[in-house]
Amino acid sequence: MNILDIIAKKRDKKELSKEEIEFFVKGYTDGSISDYQAAALVMAIYLNGMTDRETADLTVEMAYSGDVLDLSKLGENVVDKHSTGGIGDKVTLILMPIIAALGIPVAKMSGRGLGFTGGTIDKLESIPGYNTQISVEEFIDNVETIGISLMGQTLNLAPADKKLYALRDTIACVENIPLIASSIMSKKIASGANKIVLEVTVGNGAFMKNIESATKLAQTMISIGKLAGKEVVCVLTNMDEPLGYSIGNSLEVIEAIEALQGDIEDDVKEVVLELGSYMIKLAGEGDDIEENKRRMQECLDSGEAYMKFLELVESQGGDVSYINDDSKFENAKFVFPVMSNRSGYVRAIDSEGLGKISCNLGAGRIKKDDKIDNQVGLIINKKIGDVVELGDIIGIIHANSEEKLKAAIPELEKCFEISAEYVDKPKTILGIIE
Ligand code: URA
Repeated sequence: MNILDIIAKKRDKKELSKEEIEFFVKGYTDGSISDYQAAALVMAIYLNGMTDRETADLTVEMAYSGDVLDLSKLGENVVDKHSTGGIGDKVTLILMPIIAALGIPVAKMSGRGLGFTGGTIDKLESIPGYNTQISVEEFIDNVETIGISLMGQTLNLAPADKKLYALRDTIACVENIPLIASSIMSKKIASGANKIVLEVTVGNGAFMKNIESATKLAQTMISIGKLAGKEVVCVLTNMDEPLGYSIGNSLEVIEAIEALQGDIEDDVKEVVLELGSYMIKLAGEGDDIEENKRRMQECLDSGEAYMKFLELVESQGGDVSYINDDSKFENAKFVFPVMSNRSGYVRAIDSEGLGKISCNLGAGRIKKDDKIDNQVGLIINKKIGDVVELGDIIGIIHANSEEKLKAAIPELEKCFEISAEYVDKPKTILGIIE
């Protein structure tokens, strides 16, 4: 078998065998297949697709390319959660402490920002001292003692996905159903949980731009999950506008802290309660979705979820004084409000555009090894359907360089479409696929 024949086969729209997929994943992981050959094959997959069988084989190969965690010590009801990514998505920071406060173990490995989307690990690292790189033993130990741990993916978790994802990011091959499904499910299988709630984001700030492709992605991940013996539920959520009001690392942590203290934006709350109620159901702790949401709300209202977040931060070395007093997070050098130059209703928001502005300000990486600037990002003052008067602040830019601030101002203005006609607020939850 050789890689040239495999590339040619996919180039010619033929189905790859399990052995050929195994040959490629092993060879690319151990370095015997070069980046340029892998890039050619990935582009052929991007253009010509994969059957469900090929996608499942690719997933399993990537999942077993490194360590597979054994969470059996934590019992049967560990439930994992994953989002396909979005703009202003601070859900994990709010949802997981609620779930842990309800007595359901939370052992979650999260990722860093990808492309224009943010990542939970970058956000957590904006809390001074918070260690996202603890050992797997400490991770499991924390879950046993306080019921929760959030850490970064270990170096050897699905290493084939790590290499392939980085490659896709640099050859414009991210937005593709077989590649996304296998990337996410390989990590979920390797992370050890048997029950998984997946959030599939849909819209201009997500990798899936319409409901049809998001549904197909959800169905693909559910069927891979079934083959791997996992119970999977997908919640489709709207990403035609950012979630909540902040975009950027410490800005989102501050919003999450406020949410856990009871001041939570409606759209964030809807996503948190929807995902959480299915996590509770999968954990075997309640089949009634509305009742599950009520229990979660109680847990937020009583401050138990907030206390759990404090415990989490403390257990991973974070400075809890920042959580108790979020004004300790230092502002960026420039905090600049951008005003609307007309009146009307917000008709549309270019969320991907906002994600890119935030990334260019330094909240994300342009190149793989770029250092994140925790302070920078955006505050969004107007969402779709909101009334805007001439001179109202539509957004606030947090920048640490004058040059980047100047570049961001016209870009931010361009992201808001304001019309004279009344516009309905969009739905946040677009569907559930079980
Ligand atoms: N998230 C992932 O983990 N992988 C993808 O390919 C896309 C989103």
